[in-house]
Amino acid sequence: MGKDITEKKNLEEILTKSNKLARIGSWEININKGTVYWSDITKEIREVEPDFVPTLEAGISKFKEGFHRNTIQKRVEECIANGTPWDEELLIETFKGNWKWVRSIGEGEFLNGKCIRVYGSFQDINDKKKVQQDIIESNERFNLVAKATNDLIWDWDIISGETLRLGKSFFENLGYPQNFTNSNKLLWLELIHPDDLDRVENRRNQVFDDPSQNYWEDQYRCKRADGSYAYVYDRGYIVRTSNGIAIKMIGSTQDISKLKQNEIELAKLNEQLIIQAKDLALSNNELENFAYVASHDLQEPLRMISSFLSQIEKKYGEILDEKGKKYIFFAVDGAKRMRQIILDLLEFSRVGRQELDVEEVNIRLIIDEILDLYKKQIEEKKAIIVIGNMPNIITFKAPIRQVLQNLISNALKYQQDSIIPEINIQCERDYDFWKFSVKDNGIGIEEEYHDKIFEIFQRLHNKEEFSGTGIGLAIVKKIIEGMSGKIYLTSQKGVGSTFYFTIPIKQFQSTKKD
Ligand code: ADP
Repeated sequence: MGKDITEKKNLEEILTKSNKLARIGSWEININKGTVYWSDITKEIREVEPDFVPTLEAGISKFKEGFHRNTIQKRVEECIANGTPWDEELLIETFKGNWKWVRSIGEGEFLNGKCIRVYGSFQDINDKKKVQQDIIESNERFNLVAKATNDLIWDWDIISGETLRLGKSFFENLGYPQNFTNSNKLLWLELIHPDDLDRVENRRNQVFDDPSQNYWEDQYRCKRADGSYAYVYDRGYIVRTSNGIAIKMIGSTQDISKLKQNEIELAKLNEQLIIQAKDLALSNNELENFAYVASHDLQEPLRMISSFLSQIEKKYGEILDEKGKKYIFFAVDGAKRMRQIILDLLEFSRVGRQELDVEEVNIRLIIDEILDLYKKQIEEKKAIIVIGNMPNIITFKAPIRQVLQNLISNALKYQQDSIIPEINIQCERDYDFWKFSVKDNGIGIEEEYHDKIFEIFQRLHNKEEFSGTGIGLAIVKKIIEGMSGKIYLTSQKGVGSTFYFTIPIKQFQSTKKD
C-alpha cells in the first residue's frame, strides 16, 4: 500500500503513546523457537527490570494460584490447540510481590494447521477494578439499606421517566404482591389519590422550576391493594444540570398512616378536652359565684341571730338559770364561728376576682410586717425565727402576703406546747421560679393527709385542740396556682413540716386577669 511512511510512523507513535497512557503492553510466544517476548509496558506491569528475559513458565506462575492460574493455563493451551482467542480479567502477583488485576487478551497465528505464535495484550486494570469493586460494595450496601427499611427508596430519571424502586416491603405493606411492578413509568400517577394529584404535581413542578431548590417533600394519599388509601410522606433530592434543569430525583417514601391516624385521634381528643375545659371553667365559675353570693347573703341573717341572742342575754339574763345561760353561750359561740367561716369562705371565693396591680414587692418587708402582727404569740412561745435572703418580686402584693401569713401563722399554731417553735423561712431560685419554704418543728402531718389539707374545710384537728376553719391552705393553694406556681410539703409527724411554694419569676404576665 502506498501509504506515506511518516504518516504510518506518526500513527504508530500515537498508538504507543495511548497504549502507554492506558497501560496496555504486548507479549508474544514463539512456539517454534520456544521464546517469549514482553513489551516494556508488560515488563512495567509485571514489575521486572527492562533486561529481564521472560519465559512462559515464569509468566504463568505469577497468576494467582487456583482459578486465575488455571484459567490462563487453559486459555493458552486451548489457543495453541484450537486457535481459540481469549479475553480475561485475572489477578497476578508482580515480581516485586504486589497484587494486580490485569486484562489478558490473546490469539494464535497458524501455519499449515499448526500454531506457530500466540500473542496478545496485557493491561493493568487494577485502578478500574478497584473502582468497580467499590461500586459493587456500595450498591450492595444500598440494597441492604433498602431491604432493612420499610420505606420505599426510589431513583427517578425525570427525562426518561424511568424509576428504579428499592425496598419492596413498602408495597408489601400496602398489600401488593411481592413482584409488584418496578418498571411501570405511570405507577405513581396510578397510585396517588386523584384528589391529591394536581396539588402534589403543581408543588413539585414549582420546586423543579426553581434552580435554587434541591429538595422536595410532600404528603399525600397512596392507594393500597384493597382500594383504601395510606398516608405517605415523600421526599427527594433533585439533581440538576449545570444550567439548573432538574434531571433526576432520588428519595424515599414513608407510610405515615399510623402517625396520621394518631394525629387525627389526638386532634379529636384535644377538641373534646377544650369543650370539657370550657364546661369545667363554666361550672367552676358558677360555683364561685354561688359561694360568693351565699356567704355574702348569709351574713345578714347571722348578724340577726347574734344580735337577738345578745338581746336575750341582756334582757332576760336574770331570769335564766345556769343551763339557759350555757345554752346561750354555746349559741353565741357557734354564731361567732359561723361568722368566721362565712368570712373565710367569702375570702376564698374572692381570690383571683379582684382587679389588682402588679408592683415591686419587698418580700422581706412583708415577712417582717407579718411577724409584727404575731409579735405577742412569738414572744409568749419564745419562738425562734430564721429568715434567709429574700428577693424583691414584681407581683400582686396582697395575695403573696396572704400566702406567707397563712403559712407562718400555721407554723406558729401547729406546735406542741412543750417545744420552743423554730421557724425557718427561705427562698431560692429554681430555674424560672422562686421557690419559698416555710419550715417548722411542729406537730407534723401524716403523709396520707398531704393533699387533703389543701381542700376547703379540711382540718385534722378539732377546734378544742387548734382553732381554725380549714380554709387557709385552700386559699393559699388557689392563690399560688392562680400565679402558675405550685405548693407542696414534706412532713413527719412529731418532727415538723416544710411547706414549699413556687412562683414564676416572670409571673405577672401569666396571672394578669383579662
Ligand atoms: P386551719 O388552720 O384554719 O385549720 P388550714 O387550711 O390553714 O386551716 O390548714 C388545714 C389543716 O392542715 C390544719 O387544720 C392542720 O391540721 C394542718 N396544718 C396546716 N399547717 C400545718 C403545720 N404547719 N403543721 C401541722 N399541721 C398543719
